[in-house]
Amino acid sequence: MLRTPSQQEEIQQLFVLRRRRQILLAIPLVPIFIAVLVIRDQADAAVFGVPSEIWGPAFLVLAIGALLFSLWNWRCPACGKYLGKAISPRFCAKCGVALQPDR
Ligand SMILES: [Zn+2]
Repeated sequence: MLRTPSQQEEIQQLFVLRRRRQILLAIPLVPIFIAVLVIRDQADAAVFGVPSEIWGPAFLVLAIGALLFSLWNWRCPACGKYLGKAISPRFCAKCGVALQPDR
């Protein structure tokens, strides 16, 4: 499918926005993941004043939430297909649209 340069530009702007959302999502997950690793072996430990019984389920809920968010967010702006595990794909593997300008 042929696109006009302005359509192409719009797709790339949407991709930048989606990639930014993906990165913003990952940032709060890292300290939570570390906290879970730290308290795993210490049943009565409290990290940041939150008891360990809360961290496990909270992490699970967050992980599922992050997964659902990724499934919704991490899609090709042109064809709507999931973009896969690549952090910064140059092209959509499904429809071939350029997601980033050539440099
Ligand atoms: Zn696509």
